[in-house]
Order: sequence, then structure tokens, then C-alpha cells
Amino acid sequence: MGNVIEIRNIIRDFQLGQETVHVLKGINLDIKTGEYVAIMGPSGSGKSTLMNLLGCLDTPTSGSYILNGKDVSQMSDDDLADIRNTEIGFVFQTFNLLPRTTALDNVALPMVYAGKSKAQRIERATEVLKNVGLADRMDHKPNQLSGGQRQRVALGRALVNNPSIILADEPTGNLDSKTGDEIMKLFDEIHQAGNTVIMVTHEEEIASNAKRIIRLRDGLVESDTFS
Ligand code: ADP
Ligand code: MG
Repeated sequence: MGNVIEIRNIIRDFQLGQETVHVLKGINLDIKTGEYVAIMGPSGSGKSTLMNLLGCLDTPTSGSYILNGKDVSQMSDDDLADIRNTEIGFVFQTFNLLPRTTALDNVALPMVYAGKSKAQRIERATEVLKNVGLADRMDHKPNQLSGGQRQRVALGRALVNNPSIILADEPTGNLDSKTGDEIMKLFDEIHQAGNTVIMVTHEEEIASNAKRIIRLRDGLVESDTFS
């Protein structure tokens, strides 16, 4: 299979007052379609900065990012928004659901942006919520759901448009270990179904679910190992 992600010499600097902070210092990475990758590394090593770039929530200071054959490193904000909606599913540590909106409507939202009809949205969001084990929670709002259930909704939202890559930044970081294990089982299923999954975690046990572990240190890839 081909590379879904090719990044070349990605640099990301931030300006803090007069000072330039060098966060990513030249990252090179190829990820093939269907891979299951864990990204590890100490706090502050640049994991979230890299994920935000991969998720087109941010653009690099320099370097190129080819996603599914398209160079997304120089795109306009509007084009990047389209890419985020159609090519990328992003799961956050803090779930980031709309608080006043039902599970069904949270999951269906990316399909609104993708221009799907209401009937298509309801059908697909219902199917996805069943797949993440929430068939009986579709009309619940986030504050009526447990943390694990909220993260399932977030996973459903990430999957709903059949994106090219699923990105997850510490998806079990706000969950107890049993709930976290259940979420990890779902990620395994998502990978088994053929999706490309890239997950940040600082727990070795969680990373061991992945087939490849990339370790960052101080803005560079320190090691990249396959199991
Ligand atoms: P990790 O996720 O590995 O803990 P991050 O990617 O969040 O690390 O952050 C890496 C470094 O980049 C940290 O030192 C952080 O303070 C800095 N950083 C991240 N985002 C910004 C920003 N918007 N402005 C300034 N510094 C930032
Ligand atoms: Mg982080």
C-alpha cells in the first residue's frame, strides 16, 4: 500500500514575544495506509504540535506535508477546513463535544460541513453510534454521558466521514484505566477495519497496542520501531 502521509523536514517555530521557540526541528516521516502508529516522548517534546500539523489544525513554519497525495502544507485556510472535514478524524483528550447537542448531532456535524442531506446524516450517524456501542445513547447530551461514552461519541464523530487518517492525542488521558482499555479495544477494531490510526500516548501499555512506535525527543524523531 502507498503512503497516506509523507512529511519532509517539518519545522515548527513559535514566536513568544521577542523569542523564537523551536519546537519541531526537522521531522521526516512516512506512514502507510492502514498502519497503527503510537507517538511517544516526554512532555514538551512536540507530540501535540506534530499531531496538530498532521490534523491540519496548524501549518508548518517550513517543510512539506503530503496527505493522500496532496500537498497540504501551503493550502489556504478554507481548503484546510475542507481537508479536516473529509480526510481527517481527530480525537482529543478532552473529547471537545458540543455541550448542548445530542450524541447523534455531535456525530453528524462533520457531515453537515461535507454537504450531506439530513436523511444521509441520520442514517450514517446512527450506524456509527451503533458501531461504537452507543445505540441506546443517541439522544443524550454530553453531560448525560460518562467520560468513556463521551469519548465514544468523539470517536464516532472522527469516523463519520470515512477519513483517510484517524488522529488521537492522549485519547485515554482523562479516563480511568478500565474505561481506557475499552476505548483502546475500539481503536483496535477501527484499525482492524482498515483505518490508519495515529495515537499519542505516554503509557507504554497503551502504545503496545500499536504496530509501530515513534519516539520524539526535543522536537526530533529519536526512534521509530515496528513490532
Ligand atoms: P507534548 O505534546 O509533547 O507535551 P507540545 O507539542 O504540546 O508537547 O509542546 C512542545 C513545546 O512547544 C512546549 O515547550 C510548548 O510550550 C511549546 N508550544 C506549543 N505550542 C506553542 C505555542 N502556540 N506557542 C508557544 N509555544 C508553544
Ligand atoms: Mg501533548
